[in-house]
Amino acid sequence: MIVNVSDIINERGAEKEFSGEVKFKNTVYQGDKLSFLSPFDVEGKFTNGRNYLYLSASIHGEIVIPCSRCLEPYTHKIDQSIFVKLSSRVDIMENDDPDLFTYTGNRVELDRIVYEYTLLKLPIKRVCSLDCKGLCPKCGTNLNRHKCNCDRDDDIDIRLLELKKLLPSDSEEV
Ligand SMILES: [Zn+2]
Ligand SMILES: [Zn+2]
Repeated sequence: MIVNVSDIINERGAEKEFSGEVKFKNTVYQGDKLSFLSPFDVEGKFTNGRNYLYLSASIHGEIVIPCSRCLEPYTHKIDQSIFVKLSSRVDIMENDDPDLFTYTGNRVELDRIVYEYTLLKLPIKRVCSLDCKGLCPKCGTNLNRHKCNCDRDDDIDIRLLELKKLLPSDSEEV
């Protein structure tokens, strides 16, 4: 999605509202398959500031991603407000400000901005629900759906064993 800002570019304080859609191709991100069922809705406003063009916008969309616990795909909702500074000077990127983007001519390309503010800010731990039980570490059963007969008390047993090591043994020879 490209917004033409030529009508505000020469007038300080001028504003331009816009709304539209940003489409993404299904992709693999951090080893996870991401699917986009529909384009993202983006609406917002450009303001011509003193040194920068300012963009404030809201992004709404849905991504289907695998749950990091049970591996089942689930719909992750994106509802994000962004505030971005834009400069037409390419050299200005040197200052490493993550909220600073560049544009060329009178055209602002929004896809990369929307991408960076949604995908790159996805939580590291992506779970289908906070109480997702995940997969059984022994047989791989999805524990949200089925029970399995595996003995999964291993971690408790290990803790008990550690405790026993700390206790004095009563069979010690004197
Ligand atoms: Zn899950
Ligand atoms: Zn199991």
